[in-house]
Amino acid sequence: MPRRVPRRKTLFTVPEAPDAPPALLCGHCECGHVFFPAQRLGCERCGAHGDRIRIVEVPARGALQAFATVYRPRPPEGEAPMVVGTVMLDAGPAFEVTLAAREEELSVGQHVHGVLVESGRDDAGNTVLDCRFAPDGPA
Ligand SMILES: [Zn+2]
Repeated sequence: MPRRVPRRKTLFTVPEAPDAPPALLCGHCECGHVFFPAQRLGCERCGAHGDRIRIVEVPARGALQAFATVYRPRPPEGEAPMVVGTVMLDAGPAFEVTLAAREEELSVGQHVHGVLVESGRDDAGNTVLDCRFAPDGPA
């Protein structure tokens, strides 16, 4: 039976409930630094690696720091135009995201959250999902 699977297993979770928010898989170093993505090169701050880094699930919520529309397609999505931005997660690290919104819907400092969007099917017929960021709705 087809399932919902992430484009890359090491970046974010895919909850069972279709409308549940994803979590980002971050590295948490014993020095206290949290970083995304949790790559194998080690801690960005102190250089520790291996057993000194734990993988932790961090809620995909944060504040938009900057954004811009990209008119040239970037692999692997190959879409254009699209809006990319930098998000400072409530839990710490800042990183570049793809936004599920148009530039005119966005403002610096705005709160955004992760949403899972379908980006195709794999060879097994599973729905492949990407994590994008969308502005929080009115409270
Ligand atoms: Zn460290």
